[in-house]
Formats: sequence, structure tokens, C-alpha cells
Amino acid sequence: MADFEAIVVGSGCAGSVAAYELARAGKSVLVIERGNFAGAKNMTGGRIYSHSLKEVFPSFEENAPLERKVVRERISMIDQKSCMTMEFSSDELEREGQDSYTVLRATFDPWLAEQAEEAGAEFIYGIAVESLMKDEKGAVCGVKAGEDEITADVVILCDGVNSLLAQEAVGFDPPSTSTMAVGIKQVIQLDEETITNRCLTASSQEGTAWLFAGDSTHGRVGGGFMYANKDTISLGLVATLSDLEGFETPIYQMLEDFKRHPVVAPIIRGGKVIEHSGHMVPEGGLNMMPALTADGVMLAGESAMMCVNLGYVVRGMDYAIAAGMHAGRCAAAALDAGDTSKAGLAGYEQALEGSFVMKDLRQVRNFPAVMEHTTRLYHTYPRMIGEMLNGMFVVDGKPIRPMKSVMLPILKKVGFMNLLKDARGMMKAL
Ligand SMILES: Cc1cc2nc3c(=O)[nH]c(=O)nc-3n(C[C@H](O)[C@H](O)[C@H](O)COP(=O)(O)OP(=O)(O)OC[C@H]3O[C@@H](n4cnc5c(N)ncnc54)[C@H](O)[C@@H]3O)c2cc1C
Repeated sequence: MADFEAIVVGSGCAGSVAAYELARAGKSVLVIERGNFAGAKNMTGGRIYSHSLKEVFPSFEENAPLERKVVRERISMIDQKSCMTMEFSSDELEREGQDSYTVLRATFDPWLAEQAEEAGAEFIYGIAVESLMKDEKGAVCGVKAGEDEITADVVILCDGVNSLLAQEAVGFDPPSTSTMAVGIKQVIQLDEETITNRCLTASSQEGTAWLFAGDSTHGRVGGGFMYANKDTISLGLVATLSDLEGFETPIYQMLEDFKRHPVVAPIIRGGKVIEHSGHMVPEGGLNMMPALTADGVMLAGESAMMCVNLGYVVRGMDYAIAAGMHAGRCAAAALDAGDTSKAGLAGYEQALEGSFVMKDLRQVRNFPAVMEHTTRLYHTYPRMIGEMLNGMFVVDGKPIRPMKSVMLPILKKVGFMNLLKDARGMMKAL
């Protein structure tokens, strides 16, 4: 008999939710986390779309450590000297099940783990799983950590991006640098009221999500983000690895320059950096997704590359929570049926296929490649927009020129065909 019915590796969004579902179904489940506590090694930009969290914890709003409800969306195109921002707010964004919240993983992940623990899951921290145990037929039957071997009928890998265990379990080539990005983030402390005033929200319950393209990454493929938390601001960058190779400015310098940008600097002025983190982001989408199961093992969350960055929306936590939920429920059903072979775990892939997770990833499967190749988005268009808006707003006492003669030369510099081609490519991929 195995030591546990299930072992979950990693206590991020996917892991704690998978463990919660298994424990609720009465299964013995052990979560092994290499960090010293849940959230110690986890990173996000920081906004969670609430819909999948609500499905698992219908009244999460009452006790989850949420920072602010996002009531304002901003997207900016910046070059060194200009910034064009689109701002959006609506009732729809705030409606239950469609709403989103800023979160900090150092508080959010311990809360998620606590829900699983209260349901009966056991957690051990500070131990990294090094490899998988396999039986004579090659089915996964446990994990190895240092000298320890712990057996289980099913192992759920929720160990996040760059998972060597996932490679060992289902076998896939390491992802290319064009499908991986690096994220860097600082958490900057300011008082609650200052953040509310600078983000122009009505109260400290409400916040802003702000994404940037252009000079934030010095024109490289990627972008910046800023999320308003209760008494901190999460500020950071994500940039594609292949585009950083050989580039003279390292990403930590890009972040320092971003912090000095005329639009960013006034918001964080006087703030104190209390956290600095870096993490990989899998951006290749469905095309880089490995098999989700093999005999005795399942993959959920970023260990299976479930992440989407569309430039205006960044998502991974809601996918990880949904995948963790389905993995936990399907593992429990497979344990009841006494079959945790790949065939016995097939319900997991079916459940994900029927959910938004696979539908989304399938829908936007070509978008990462389009974003990677539409490089004008990161330098030419922010500059073009800056010039056009200068043409509209700058008044210097000279006679007004016809708008056509102001705009046409700027558009011609970029090329109408290029504009059309890029717009068409992006629309087609969405
Ligand atoms: C810069 C950045 C910005 C982002 N912005 C957003 C955003 O705004 N909204 C959003 O929804 N998503 C965002 N994401 C993506 C999101 O954070 C991830 O998709 C999500 O955290 C994945 O959850 P997970 O549970 O799969 O993995 P993780 O949260 O990474 O958890 C994996 C866990 O496994 C543990 N682990 C790893 N290996 C082992 C091992 N061998 N043994 C034991 N434990 C192990 C790790 O310590 C970790 O706790 C962002 C990501 C980055 C990097």
C-alpha cells in the first residue's frame, strides 16, 4: 500500500487547489513544497481574475487576502518622451464572477494552502522533490527528495514553470528561448491614501491595473505592468528571452529606467522597495504544452505551460486554479475507481477540454508567435503615436496645419502596408 493516495508537488495556485479537492473527497494527500512556506517562491504580476477561484471557494471575498478590486484598466504606449494611455472602467468589470483583484502571493498562497490544510491535506515545506519514482512498468508511483522516498497512487505535478519533473514524467523538449520570457518585479510600499489618490480611485478597496508597451522594455518584445495593492504597488517587466539575448541593457536596468519614466516616477515617488523578485513566464501557449497525464501522474498549471499573455491581459493564476481543481477532482474519481493509469486519468484532459482553459489556449494559440514577430509594436508604434498626438496637442503660435499634412508623413514613415499587415496579423491571431 502506498504512503499516500496522492502527492502534490508545489503549493502554488494549482497545487493547493488540487490538494483541497482531494482532501475534500476524503483522500490522503501530501503536498511537498520546496519553499519554507506557501508563497515563498511564487511570483505574479499581480491580478487574479476571480471566476475560477469562485468556483472552488464561492465566498472567497469574505476571507481571502485580496488587495484591491480592479475597477480601472489602463494600457499605455510609451516612448522615452511620450505616453499615450487608454483608460477604461465599467460596471461589467466589477460584476461578480467577472471581477478581478490585485493580490500578493506572499499572503494569497498561504491562505490557499490553509484552505487545503483545513480540509485535511498535509503539507511539508522546505523540501524539493528531486525526481519521480517509477514502478517496473514505468508508471509513476511516488517521489524522491534527498534520501526520502514517498509513494502514492497518483502524483500531481504543480511545480510551476521550468519543471524538470514534468519532463521526466511525460517527456518533452526544453522550451526554446522565444517561447519563454523573464519577469522582474518590485513591490513598492507607500501609504494607502497616497496610492488611492495617485491611482484616482474612490477608496482603498479599489485599484488600477496598468500595462505598458514600448520603452518599458527598451523596445524589446515584452512590456511593463503596474498594479495597485492596498499599501504597495507591484511594478515590473516581462521580456522574451530570445529578444534579450545579446541586448546591451540587462532587464534589471530596464526596470530602473522604467521607474524613472515621467509617467511612472510620480506614482511611485517616495515609495520604499520591500520586495524584489524574478521568475520565468511560459509564453508559447498551446504549442508548447506537454501531455497532461501519464500512468500515475498529472500536470496542472504552469508545469503544463498554462499561461496567456495577450499584451492587454495576462493570465496564469485563474488557469492554474481551474486546472488544479479539475486535477484534484479527477484524481479523486480515479482513486475511487482504483485506476490511476493514463486511461484512468483521462477524465482530467476531458474536463480541461470542456473548460475555458483549453478553449482559451486553443483560441489564442497563434498569438504568441504574432506578438514575437510584430516588433514594431514595441518601438515604432509608440513613437508614431507620440508624434501624431504631438501634432494634435502642441500649440506653438504657428498657423494651424491641415490635420492630413500633419498625420500623413508620420504614417508614411511607418508604411500603410506595415500598419495594415500588423493589425491584420494580430486580429487574425485573436
Ligand atoms: C512577472 C509575472 C507576471 C505575471 N502576471 C500575472 C497576472 O497578473 N495574472 C495572472 O493570472 N498570472 C500572472 N502571471 C502568471 C502566474 O503567476 C502563474 O501562471 C501562476 O503563478 C502559476 O501557478 P502554478 O501554481 O502553476 O505555479 P507556481 O505558482 O509557480 O507554483 C509552483 C510551486 O512549486 C514549487 N516547486 C517547484 N519545484 C519544486 C520541487 N521540485 N519540489 C517542491 N516544490 C517545488 C515552487 O516553489 C512553487 O511554490 C505572471 C507571472 C509572472 C512571472
